[in-house]
Amino acid sequence: MNKIWLSSPHMSGHEQKYVQEAFETNWVAPLGPNVDGFEQDLSRYVGVGHAAALSSGTAALHLALVMLGVGQGDVVICQSFTFAASANPIVYQGATPVFVDSEWETWNICPEALEEAIKGERAKGKNVKAVIVVHLYGMPAKIDEIIDVCAHYEVPLIEDAAEGLGASWQGRKLGSFGKLNILSFNGNKIITTSGGGALLSDDEKLIQQSRFLATQARDNAPHYQHSQIGYNYRMSNICAGIGRGQMQVIDERVSQRRANFAWYQQAFEGDDRIAFQPEREGSYANRWLSCIRVDVTKTSGVTREVLRMALAAESIEARPLWKPMHLQPVFEDTPYYGGQIAQTLFDDGLCLPSGSNLTEEDLQRVVEAMKRTLG
Ligand SMILES: *Cc1c(COP(=O)(O)O)cnc(C)c1O
Repeated sequence: MNKIWLSSPHMSGHEQKYVQEAFETNWVAPLGPNVDGFEQDLSRYVGVGHAAALSSGTAALHLALVMLGVGQGDVVICQSFTFAASANPIVYQGATPVFVDSEWETWNICPEALEEAIKGERAKGKNVKAVIVVHLYGMPAKIDEIIDVCAHYEVPLIEDAAEGLGASWQGRKLGSFGKLNILSFNGNKIITTSGGGALLSDDEKLIQQSRFLATQARDNAPHYQHSQIGYNYRMSNICAGIGRGQMQVIDERVSQRRANFAWYQQAFEGDDRIAFQPEREGSYANRWLSCIRVDVTKTSGVTREVLRMALAAESIEARPLWKPMHLQPVFEDTPYYGGQIAQTLFDDGLCLPSGSNLTEEDLQRVVEAMKRTLG
């Protein structure tokens, strides 16, 4: 039996042309025509003024924090229900992450709890330097409410749209709402450059500054001169070539992922043991991963972990939803605002195989294995 992966790279066939060009012209460097082209593709597609192609989504987030002046002793508020890469760069800067719970409608950061966090931290005398919202699994967060809270308290918003490329809220693409926005092109994301990320903003100066910092902050001089600490965070022209090929099929990839979700949803229609991640009116999720919740009060003991292991025994990769940051050993002593929603999602949630390259037979196999386990 072939293995069914959670989310594996899906090449379109267009990538090699750009990679080939890079070889033929010897642009095998962290700059070149593919980097420029990929940046244009991204800014045009997302509908944001400027983009910098970088080595990873984590690097993009790190540069965003550097440019917002986040430093020692500052506080950055971050959605708790996310991947560790959303929070780690806060610590790289010597700042303290403060985690906030999710809400049920989108599973992303709760605007009310966010406001509590800003007020609570300010009352402690903390300098709240930024807010990081995450569109987890490609589901738009309550972005209008979050923007309102950030505007009211004058805190800049960073959108972690690493999982959200191709999704939109009221027709506007995710990755275009924050002062700075990040994308990831890691191997398991909706499109990949084998590894990479991007920083997006309407503020051209910030994007120019990020390109400067990402190439070791070299001053304009014939020798190597530096007035600031820099980073080696640029994307290579080879990886950007893969990205250009992938951007040609981004809309197809989103449709394929949404079709996977619809397939699962239909297979469990009327089965109240399984609930699906909701999609609000006005949201267009990319369904990067198809996420379900298992209602253990109705499954006679079949937990999400029992289900996951049963699938694993049949060479099907499923994974628990992200373990919230406030429950991670490394963030044990970090402040947290909110209740039990993120924790509940982790306790009963499961990501099903979701690649855009899954066949109907693959999906059928997953559903059959699940139904056999659930009985
Ligand atoms: C993948 C991911 C990142 C990090 O991106 P990398 O390119 O792997 O560094 C950040 N945030 C979220 C929510 C992600 O899923």
